[in-house]
Amino acid sequence: MEKTVKEALKEIVGEENFTDSLIDLIAYAKDASEHQHRPEAAVWPIRTDQVSAIMKLATREEFPVIPRGAGTSLAGLAVPEKGGLILDLGRMDRIIDINIEDRLAVVQPGVIYAELDRALSPHGFFFPPDPASGSVCTLGGNVATNAGGIKGAKYGTTKDYVLALEVVLPDGRILHTGSKCMKSVSGYDLTKLFVGSEGTIGVITEITFKINPKPPVTSTAMATFETLEDGGQAISEIMYSGIIPSALELVDRQSLKAINENTDLQLPEVEIMLVAETDGYTKEETEFQMKTIMEIFRKNNATMVKHADESKGGAAALWTARKSAYGVMARINNNLIVEDLAVPMSKVPEMLRAISDLAKKYDLQIPTVGHAGDGNLHPVVSFDGTDPDQVRRVEEASEELFKKVIELGGTLTGEHGIGLAKIPFMHLEHDETSMDIMRSLKRLFDPKNILNPGKMGLEA
Ligand SMILES: Cc1cc2nc3c(=O)[nH]c(=O)nc-3n(C[C@H](O)[C@H](O)[C@H](O)COP(=O)(O)OP(=O)(O)OC[C@H]3O[C@@H](n4cnc5c(N)ncnc54)[C@H](O)[C@@H]3O)c2cc1C
Repeated sequence: MEKTVKEALKEIVGEENFTDSLIDLIAYAKDASEHQHRPEAAVWPIRTDQVSAIMKLATREEFPVIPRGAGTSLAGLAVPEKGGLILDLGRMDRIIDINIEDRLAVVQPGVIYAELDRALSPHGFFFPPDPASGSVCTLGGNVATNAGGIKGAKYGTTKDYVLALEVVLPDGRILHTGSKCMKSVSGYDLTKLFVGSEGTIGVITEITFKINPKPPVTSTAMATFETLEDGGQAISEIMYSGIIPSALELVDRQSLKAINENTDLQLPEVEIMLVAETDGYTKEETEFQMKTIMEIFRKNNATMVKHADESKGGAAALWTARKSAYGVMARINNNLIVEDLAVPMSKVPEMLRAISDLAKKYDLQIPTVGHAGDGNLHPVVSFDGTDPDQVRRVEEASEELFKKVIELGGTLTGEHGIGLAKIPFMHLEHDETSMDIMRSLKRLFDPKNILNPGKMGLEA
């Protein structure tokens, strides 16, 4: 990047909001994935007009710009594959408005997910997507990745809550999409086009979310199963029983083993453990739903069914077990790839079996956790990246994994996105016509290919 360009950037954001120091650039070379590429500079804009001026400069001088939230992407979405400028939105972090009458929250992109949830709580409202990274990831990142979480089966994902956006386009123009109405079919749905677009077609500078009243009562239970088939059948039966759990999470044997080795939770090391949560407005309603779920657990040969005692923190302990999974798996080996896939719910047992077979075939450890209620699984591949043979086995296993996903009618990613990690598999899911349309859209918005270039397989 030319010195004159760096000076122009300082003019736009101020000297204190610009960096090209090596230590900062090394930090910005990574997100939470295994990918690494160093940028040439980074800026922290605080206003939309600054973002617009930066994009105008980038279009004129033709340097890459990578929008960035908290950098928690697990698929290489936020790393600057072609160098250029990191546009860190973290200082645009104001909750602009919480409007309970209209069920809306208007925020800047750098607001942390958990901060919005905290601000909504006194009003008895919540923002449901609930990614496991919610204490650190930003709402701009959540929109750009269409983040989801443990409440997906009942409450959907981020896309179900985005009503309107302010977006700065690659040429610097400012676009307003959507409206503050709960319903609108006015023109093409440009809002949804930006949800999950991974920072490739515009920089999100303001978001209007729909928010939900928070059901005050929850109930939690866990069950263990000695076979994948029993656990899988229980998942299916719950999901067509008429009850929609607010969460239905699974943890497999290898994950339980890893959790036990690194915590004092002493979980039973069974083939599959399920944790279910129901929510509602009265205890009766919530317990009625949970009773149905526990009956289904028992009918499908659960070896243990335990209803958590909320008053003794039992539910919190169960969620700690589930949520500690990534942390403890990171200790298994030097490198970790948190995979992300989704299959139709009825195919969950077959997918789990295939993952277990791949682990044996390639002699790898692949503990798996997942959102069983919406078929979204996270096989976690741990390996030693300094060993070329292990790296080769991981690559071969990944290819076979995603072929199986597509064969089962699944999708390459339920919530983490394509980024750099899934580019080699895009052709498995998307035919040439859909790739052609996606590339045309990218060219329409970003003819000079300056915004987060090299992602999503749009250049092939
Ligand atoms: C421990 C852990 C647990 C996780 N659990 C979940 C989970 O349960 N569910 C889930 O969905 N994800 C999960 N993730 C992945 C990640 O947290 C999400 O993808 C999250 O939405 C990324 O937010 P971020 O602020 O970190 O964005 P970043 O990682 O900084 O960026 C992600 C993408 O969004 C783009 N982007 C960011 N801000 C903007 C903006 N303002 N305008 C345009 N583009 C932008 C970037 O260019 C990039 O392409 C997890 C990650 C970790 C490390």
